[in-house]
Amino acid sequence: MNIIHVSAECYPVAKAGGLADVVGALPKYQNALGHKASVIMPFYYNKFRDAHTFKDIFTGYARLADITYTFNVIIPQDVDFGYEIYLIDIPGLFDRDSIYSYDDDIERFITFQIAALNWLNSWEAPVDIVHCHDQHTGFVPFMMSKVWDYRKFEHVPTVFTIHNGEYQGQFGFEKLHYLPPFHSYYNGLVEWNGEMNPLASAIKCAWKVTTVSPSYMNEISFSMKGLEGLLQLEKDKCLGILNGIDVDVWNPETDPLLDVHYGIRNISGGKKALKDKLCEQFNLNPSKPLFVFIGRLVKEKGADILPDVVYQTMINFPGEQNILVLGSGEQVIEGALLHMEQLFKGNFCSYIGYNEKLSHEIYGGADFLLMPSRVEPCGLNQLYALRYGTIPIVRRTGGLQDTVIDMGDGGFGFCHNECTTHDVLHSVIRAKAFYSDKKNVRAIRKQIMKIDHSWTKAADEYVELYKSI
Ligand code: ADP
Repeated sequence: MNIIHVSAECYPVAKAGGLADVVGALPKYQNALGHKASVIMPFYYNKFRDAHTFKDIFTGYARLADITYTFNVIIPQDVDFGYEIYLIDIPGLFDRDSIYSYDDDIERFITFQIAALNWLNSWEAPVDIVHCHDQHTGFVPFMMSKVWDYRKFEHVPTVFTIHNGEYQGQFGFEKLHYLPPFHSYYNGLVEWNGEMNPLASAIKCAWKVTTVSPSYMNEISFSMKGLEGLLQLEKDKCLGILNGIDVDVWNPETDPLLDVHYGIRNISGGKKALKDKLCEQFNLNPSKPLFVFIGRLVKEKGADILPDVVYQTMINFPGEQNILVLGSGEQVIEGALLHMEQLFKGNFCSYIGYNEKLSHEIYGGADFLLMPSRVEPCGLNQLYALRYGTIPIVRRTGGLQDTVIDMGDGGFGFCHNECTTHDVLHSVIRAKAFYSDKKNVRAIRKQIMKIDHSWTKAADEYVELYKSI
């Protein structure tokens, strides 16, 4: 099958979160199954651009209302992803270093979707599946089926994956004319609740809709910021497929971002060396259990309770453990964490920012990973932690519920029900008691490093889904 993924992110070209990891890995595994998967994404003027050379393969035009943008499709020349990647360079809209958070994001991503389809329109090779990811590509299934210019794609099946239903991308109807011409009879397919809504449009128009874990699929059909009713209506074409991880990138035996490598046979030595290095860097005591958090500092991730978790843990159990946070997000959370750092020097530290290398070092060197998420569609951090022998402490929600089994149920992690300081603290206390038995720790680390969360199974499930349509 000729499979086209359309996405705003793809690791290592541009990453803001798990979406990039998924789109960066899934096509590789689909190609390994004998298909031809490729990725279309915007070309950002970021570090990846600075580090590589590129070749132009197409020039086209994308019209947004009364502005016509010239775009180039370019491909990297000096790097092999294991699949083709097509980068759409739209000067004026994407010649910036960040992926999101500009005032004109609506204009940027609609133009990107139009450019992607204009380019696909010029292809001679048949396209078997167009697989779109998250709201930034949400109008593609609609445009493929209803926009006059793209009539050629009317019978090409589309799949839309909801990586995060919290972000719907809605905006006012006065921008309806941004989309290329279609019959006004179909206006209802791009709206929800009186607004243009790319996520809703994708749920209505894609041939199949997936989410990144079965539990999240179930949760959002009851609660997804107003779209739950729509999901219930469309439930026959929806299903949850649990994400995998790229075990070539995330491999503690070979990970180029780690200074020390380890496998199942030398876990303790490897993790200790990495922990010592981390503790030295952040002025923490390496003889104490190290709890970490990696992620966006937003409510969705439960990051707003972290300062209180730190405070209560350090006040109730002074000097008994270390906590390290890597993340960036809401200023008020960042500020509260920096304040905690002043209060609990030597036991708590935070790195505010995005740092891929440090994240790998933390998965390697930590003892426990905290994920108190309120919402977690799949969650990749816990899967990386397992692969690096770090024990997850998670709230039972979404993909966390599908991938982490509590020690009390014969499993390998610590689970709690609520996103509250009380519940996290309770898990921390359990984890510390567990940590005091080194033999158990070694056994569980071995067990979790062996769990197979590679993409092989999920890539196959997606292919079966494609075949069904
Ligand atoms: P999200 O909802 O943010 O996409 P996921 O768990 O699906 O959450 O994926 C998060 C990805 O982003 C993981 O690869 C994680 O290691 C990475 N990540 C998040 N925050 C940071 C950060 N500050 N620095 C480095 N990597 C980060």
